[in-house]
Amino acid sequence: MTFSSLSHYFQKLEQTASRNTMTMLLAELFHKAGRDEIGKICFLLQGRVVPLYDALEFGVADKLVTRAIAQAYQVAESKVAAQIKHVGDAGIAAEQCYHVLEQDNRNTISVGEVFQQLYQTARASGIGSQEQKITLLAGLLRSIDALSARYIARIPLDKLRLGFSDMTILDALSWMLTGDKSLRVRLEEAYNVRPDIGYIAESVKKDGIHGLSHVSVRVGAPILAALCQRLPHADEMIKKMGEVAVEPKYDGVRTQIHVQRQDNGRLRVQSFSRNLENTTAMFPELTHIGAQIHAREVILDSEAVGVDPKSGKLIPFQETMTRKRKHGIDVQSRSVPIRFFVFDILYKDGEALLAAPLSERRKILEATVGTGNILVVSPEIVAETAEEIRTYHDEQLKRGLEGAVVKKWNSPYEPGRRGFSWVKFKEEEGHTGKLTDTIDAVVMGYYRGEGKRSGFGIGAFLVGVRQNESFVTITKIGTGVSDALWKLLRERLNAIKTNRQPKAYSQVNKLFTPDVWVEPNIVVEIAGDDLTKSSNHGAGIAVRFPRLVRIRTDKTPREATTTGELNQMYRKQGAGARRGV
Ligand code: ATP
Repeated sequence: MTFSSLSHYFQKLEQTASRNTMTMLLAELFHKAGRDEIGKICFLLQGRVVPLYDALEFGVADKLVTRAIAQAYQVAESKVAAQIKHVGDAGIAAEQCYHVLEQDNRNTISVGEVFQQLYQTARASGIGSQEQKITLLAGLLRSIDALSARYIARIPLDKLRLGFSDMTILDALSWMLTGDKSLRVRLEEAYNVRPDIGYIAESVKKDGIHGLSHVSVRVGAPILAALCQRLPHADEMIKKMGEVAVEPKYDGVRTQIHVQRQDNGRLRVQSFSRNLENTTAMFPELTHIGAQIHAREVILDSEAVGVDPKSGKLIPFQETMTRKRKHGIDVQSRSVPIRFFVFDILYKDGEALLAAPLSERRKILEATVGTGNILVVSPEIVAETAEEIRTYHDEQLKRGLEGAVVKKWNSPYEPGRRGFSWVKFKEEEGHTGKLTDTIDAVVMGYYRGEGKRSGFGIGAFLVGVRQNESFVTITKIGTGVSDALWKLLRERLNAIKTNRQPKAYSQVNKLFTPDVWVEPNIVVEIAGDDLTKSSNHGAGIAVRFPRLVRIRTDKTPREATTTGELNQMYRKQGAGARRGV
């Protein structure tokens, strides 16, 4: 397939807001794509050249693309810069500058060739790499047509943003195979084990749905984290789950640890966050776990928590992250040592353990992770009564922890699922009629400040929860945010601001139109007094007295609270109030 044909699909996808139309367009594109092309196309559709979890980035800023366009079309750099400023988009600017050149082969360059060049651009590193990137991009811009130039300029800047995620791609793969979305669940299950959209697409293009049977766990490719449901009372936990393991709920950063002993005996350790980011560079301490691991290859699930070197006490997530930002990683790892509380094992020496019951995995975990200072196997009890759960949970609260996590003793590990196999237990809900849990919301836009805050350029922001692939508003937040946090927020939001209301926010009431729209990208955790019914907010529910708890850098918008969960929280709050407790 030529890149020019792919660009026409980019254009059609850009022009539609309908998810169904997108799915069908993608399915048509996948039909036409060759076996060796479909994976590359899936990455390019997301503006990438590697899976989400691969740390490789383009490392390209506006200035570099400006120079590449100038070089490609022999236009003055200042003119390109002015054009980008005028239209607010390097893609359109590249397309407009394009018209100065004539090329013969501009419609024939293939998707594979463009992919390769973009890949090389991302790979270029070290001395002289900026020039190398410019030359590569300029070469690409010269060898394509005008419309393609629009997309080639946007991709390295992470500005392609066609308005859908890997989930829509999974829908489209199902559509390609069957003409409907009936295979989406199976495709998603495979994706949860190996979140590499290119690999999944290639597998099903080659062997149909049976291709998924080859998709398996691999060290170096993160598995989506199993998540917790909520249940209000210990009695309900026993009723629903039977025999359970109860563990402390640590307030840290979810960290999946991948260990591989190489032929030369050296250990290769990588870590991944819950939103699949490669966090290896953040945790230098993980390079010292060799003596604790009794296996050749292993994947562990853990919570990373900072430890106060003086008191030995665990430091809450918020504070660990602040110290991290302040001191840089090296100093930080000395001043705030990190301990990894390991609570699960997902793979060992060639064998995936996802289907094994927790009771079995726990035995393997204990035999695999030895004692030491960096990895600590999380303590736990096995309980059969609500009383045992309650007592253990109260002990954790007394120790200053968040509560407990209760896990069905005979359940498999469910990647990416928020099922009833794992339940979090923070405080028995319904006692006060107030919100006992926080909401993870997506920032949709912001309002410029008035008075004192006009100096920051931001005075309030609009947030929403997830409804399928869209986001619907629940509240505006304007208070309880420190000056430093306002600045940080504005910086982060400005990096993702957009001229148009994003497609994913289709139903925002005019009352809440923000001064600046931002792409769905930043997740914030918010607390509130209670939830009320609201006809103004798209979620149908609003938060009263909302407060920002923290920015959740470890969560993607896909992990934001959903309208279903919000309704559940609303009902529980009502039940507590009705019981008059
Ligand atoms: P919250 O915001 O309530 O802390 P969350 O929104 O981050 O939770 P949940 O799925 O609700 O995510 O809770 C699960 C999280 O709790 C996990 O992602 C993990 O980071 C953390 N956690 C702490 N201790 C444990 C444990 N023993 N087992 C599993 N997860 C744990």
